Amino acid sequence: MKFRLGLQARFLLAMALVLAVVMALLLLLLHRQNLVQRESQAISSRVMHQMVDDYLHSHGRSVAEHLAESLANPLYYLDLDAIGRILRDNRRDGLIQYLLVFDRHGRLVHDGTPEIEGYGGAMDDPLAAGALAAERTVSQDSPQVLEMSAPIRVGSERIGGVRVGLSMQVAHGYEQRSAERLRARVEELARRHQGWVALMLLLLLGVAMLAALYVQRILVHPIRQLAAAARRIEAGDYSVRSQGSARNDELGDLVRAFDRMSESVARHDRDVRRMAYTDALTGLTNRLAFRENLDHRLMRLRGSGRQLALLFADIDDFKRVNDTLGHEAGDEALLQFANRIAEAVGRYGGDDALLARFGGDEFVILIQEGEVRSAATRLAEVLVAELRRPLDIHDRQVFLGTSIGITLFPEDASSATALMKNGDIAMYQAKVAGKNGFRFYSRAMDHAVERRVHMEQELRGAWERGELSVVYQPVCRTSDGRVVGAEALLRWQHPMLGMIAPSVFIDVAEQSGLIEQIGPRVLHVACTEAVRWMDLDSGERLFVSVNVSPRQLRRGDLPDVVADCLRETGLPASCLHLELTETSVISDELQAAALLARLHSTGVKVWLDDFGTGFSGLSHLRRVPVDGVKIDRSFVADLQRDPDDLALTTAIIAMAHSLGITVVAEGVEKEAQYNLLAERGCDLVQGYWLSHPVSASEFAHLLTQRMR
Ligand code: C2E
Ligand code: MG
Ligand code: MG
Repeated sequence: MKFRLGLQARFLLAMALVLAVVMALLLLLLHRQNLVQRESQAISSRVMHQMVDDYLHSHGRSVAEHLAESLANPLYYLDLDAIGRILRDNRRDGLIQYLLVFDRHGRLVHDGTPEIEGYGGAMDDPLAAGALAAERTVSQDSPQVLEMSAPIRVGSERIGGVRVGLSMQVAHGYEQRSAERLRARVEELARRHQGWVALMLLLLLGVAMLAALYVQRILVHPIRQLAAAARRIEAGDYSVRSQGSARNDELGDLVRAFDRMSESVARHDRDVRRMAYTDALTGLTNRLAFRENLDHRLMRLRGSGRQLALLFADIDDFKRVNDTLGHEAGDEALLQFANRIAEAVGRYGGDDALLARFGGDEFVILIQEGEVRSAATRLAEVLVAELRRPLDIHDRQVFLGTSIGITLFPEDASSATALMKNGDIAMYQAKVAGKNGFRFYSRAMDHAVERRVHMEQELRGAWERGELSVVYQPVCRTSDGRVVGAEALLRWQHPMLGMIAPSVFIDVAEQSGLIEQIGPRVLHVACTEAVRWMDLDSGERLFVSVNVSPRQLRRGDLPDVVADCLRETGLPASCLHLELTETSVISDELQAAALLARLHSTGVKVWLDDFGTGFSGLSHLRRVPVDGVKIDRSFVADLQRDPDDLALTTAIIAMAHSLGITVVAEGVEKEAQYNLLAERGCDLVQGYWLSHPVSASEFAHLLTQRMR
């Protein structure tokens, strides 16, 4: 780790530096003070010495002169008693070591003692000569004494002298004691001074520590907190709040700004998460969040012996809503669907059910409670029933259905990816099986799906290889039961799989664009065949009706293709009917109207196929110029049981007739249906009850039989 000097460390370092400098200054001051103290002691002892010296001299002089004066008379009369008294009086002075009185001949007269040892003797000490010679007061000294001697006069006559010896030892004793007292006082003063300095240092240290604490509290601590909060935010934890700050300074501003910033980052993060994890349109869980949730659940369920069901629901033909009513309506439909699904899941899915939208028209549901197979079955039944109820979109009734695939954990798969793939496969199978229903996943389905993937590749050369053929389903007139035409229906004879119905492969052809090549070929074959029928049936011209896919219509060149085909085959235009799905016609009314007008101008007739399953509604018929409608077989199937279907069929017939439009009913499987339709005035019918789709030769055979 790189060495880092933090804010607090820096501050402490600066503090320590300042303290060190202050300390050094103080030490210097103390040192100087010591020097001054010693110097002043030396000076004061010198001064004191001088003072003592001066004092000794002046004291000695005044004593000597005073004695010389007061001894003049006693000495003159040699009154030893008086002299002794005077000397003793003065000897009380502690400084005086000796007092000697001598006569004019230098002989000792008195020394202040009662015995007067050496009386009348000559003085032979080293200082005696100086004293004897003194005409005035003189001083002389030896290491032991300072001597003042003064002559004693009577009038102008010198009758002797007095010697005052002051003890140097006593004087020095005084001096030393004073010096010692002085030193003691000075030292005490110095000690007190040092005490003050130490106290000041302590105070300074205390102040520094307080300052450090203060800085730590008001600067370092909040900044550290901010840094820690920033690190947590960086790590993705947005729950941190630096609990605001009531401070009214720059740092308070910073903390508040930080709070605001972290709040906005958190909000931003929440938004991003919400966007990332929820579906914008429905507000449901999206694919990403679903996947995470599924992974979690599987992790928990693994080995627990508990089950989970995944329901994969896809709205049937939802694309048509977008294509015909626009995307806004598509969104509306999805919302209504989402609500219905959510309601059903809420009621039948159990507490921990999860509903997600995978984008487009795919919804996925997870259920986990109880016996999941039966729970999933019940939920799927409810969903299928709920979702086939018409939707109200922009004042139109829209009929849609749902296909649901169900897969179970752990029976079908144990990984999330495999479960989702299985759900998709099962859903697809539900669609193949006729939509609007549900299927449980089974392993056999895998192959079916793989087939679909290969189907496109295989379909590509199918026409050239002669695998595609056209069959014809007779269309009869209800008024006299005669065959008046036939619908051309494509078949694919797969080399391995056998006959494949168009409901399976037309979708593939449509999505891959192959229909653009196959469609015109079917048209050509059908027209060629229809020309042949003209020879067979002399009574009436039979028509052939050809299915046209939305993709062919969108290309825009259909009228030209049709015209070319008619010219090449020689089929009269009136014998060709084109079956367009509602969806393709309605997706763009204006364009469709123009296209239909161009088609009409070639003389062909246009029928609307699978009528009733889309959203055109009856009113729509007025705006799109078609020659006929083919009522979808889902209505016909329920004619006898469902009064609504019967009413609708009757209405369609009446409405169409009022517009001069022919009505064809497809999927007539029973006589009763035929009768009902005939009663209601349906013009033409088509269905297994009359004839299954048959090959061209069989159809020709059928025609010749009828003629007989
Ligand atoms: P569609 O145009 O509605 O064709 C009628 C379908 O109903 C045909 O199915 C026909 O076999 C079936 N059908 C007729 N009578 C009955 C009946 O009584 N009961 C039942 N259950 N079904 C009956 P098919 O041949 O499987 O065609 C399905 C769809 O495939 C057609 O529906 C049409 O939309 C499309 N299709 C077929 N051939 C072509 C083609 O050449 N080009 C295009 N673009 N689409 C085609
Ligand atoms: Mg058709
Ligand atoms: Mg149809």
